[in-house]
Amino acid sequence: MIAYSAELVTDPIEFEPYAGKLRLAYKNPKAGDWVKAPSASAWEPGILRARVRDLRDRPATRGPERMRKLHVRRQWRCMDKLLCQVCALPAADRQTGLIPWLLTRTAFEATGLRSGRTNAPPTCARCIPKALEECPMLRSSVSLCTVEGVKPAGVLADMYRPGIVRTLESTGRNVFVAWDDYQHHPYALATSQMVELQGIRPVPS
Ligand SMILES: [Zn+2]
Repeated sequence: MIAYSAELVTDPIEFEPYAGKLRLAYKNPKAGDWVKAPSASAWEPGILRARVRDLRDRPATRGPERMRKLHVRRQWRCMDKLLCQVCALPAADRQTGLIPWLLTRTAFEATGLRSGRTNAPPTCARCIPKALEECPMLRSSVSLCTVEGVKPAGVLADMYRPGIVRTLESTGRNVFVAWDDYQHHPYALATSQMVELQGIRPVPS
């Protein structure tokens, strides 16, 4: 799920008129650039999703791994389909249906006694030892839990507003924007998808 350096894309973005307002767009927009909230009506502009290439199968051109850089599309797919962030196979336990999840302090925010938001995808039972070994961030503050299910929550995004001197100004990085927070969607460049975990239980170690 980590991005390789040649996969990172820095296409320029700008504000464009949309339905009488402004929204963020790539300067050479493509239809697949925007993602819609699960409950969005047809006229909502959606959220601009950061572009990225997929060069996993081309080791000669993909460059070195960029630690701390999630691959936007792979992360999204893991969350949509609850795939393991290491092996990309379904993460849920086939017998119990419970989903193993490594929760770190930096990537988890509690929203209730047994619920919370994260942008870190699940890790299947087979890959947990490997994930702990390979990811230094995990080792410092991780707890292994099981999760009964997830709900869509929103995105983590870099936020912009139209600028006076330059065409746009940054107003924040890694900001949580909820799917139903429609008024902020036109100003967000989504870099990962957040889900809300439900029925979280710690696994005794
Ligand atoms: Zn796995």
